[in-house]
Amino acid sequence: MLRLWYGGTFDPVHCGHLAIARAAADAFGVPVTLAPAADPPHRAVPGASAHHRARMLDVAAAGDRRLRVDRRELERSGPSWTIDTLRELRVLHGGDAPLALLLGADSFRSLPQWHQWREILSLAHLVVASRGDEPVDRGLPPELAAATEGRWCDSPAALAAAEKVAEEWKISREDQQPLHPQSASAVRAAIAAGDPGWQGMVPPAVAGYILRHGLYGAGQGAHGVTGT
Ligand code: ATP
Repeated sequence: MLRLWYGGTFDPVHCGHLAIARAAADAFGVPVTLAPAADPPHRAVPGASAHHRARMLDVAAAGDRRLRVDRRELERSGPSWTIDTLRELRVLHGGDAPLALLLGADSFRSLPQWHQWREILSLAHLVVASRGDEPVDRGLPPELAAATEGRWCDSPAALAAAEKVAEEWKISREDQQPLHPQSASAVRAAIAAGDPGWQGMVPPAVAGYILRHGLYGAGQGAHGVTGT
């Protein structure tokens, strides 16, 4: 059975993350594992602690058999390199176990900046979700275009059938319609600006969690802390 791994900062998890996870789970007929990163190597320090980010994933995934949460990157010390996680998964499930990384088009385009990115490609297939109008295989940096040439699959079934990864890794597109434009930075910015619209960008249970814990400054606007 193909294992679908979906890593990210999830700061916080939002409806865009969940939409692509559910779409991939449905397309491949397997659950998706969401894995929060402890100390993201490619970006600024997260706005919420790893504990809260993982708890928000728990409440978002609760009751949906298509979604799982895995805390292994939080239990390691040091930065959460994807390559280390994949190596751990290979030890756990075996060298030939079918395994794919789910990632958004922006993360995919930045892959050449990831730690040991070429090794990543020998350990997992990729499933790339679009985040905008541009097809996910256009406008790639030259080294990524070269590395991925001839590896694109026309359907999830074609990727799932390519059992071995090693030299035969494949990429599948997830061109979800409609696109889900949410981003974690937009959620954080809306909370900081006191724009109540942020509550529509995350599931209600996650909005409740953010409000209960006062994350990202929620509840500190006009009706909250006065500063005196
Ligand atoms: P930020 O806005 O802070 O950059 P983000 O919304 O991109 O955060 P991450 O936790 O960094 O969230 O993303 C985890 C993964 O989910 C990445 O591979 C990213 O490309 C993908 N992703 C995030 N939001 C969407 C979305 N709306 N549609 C498709 N993929 C997404």
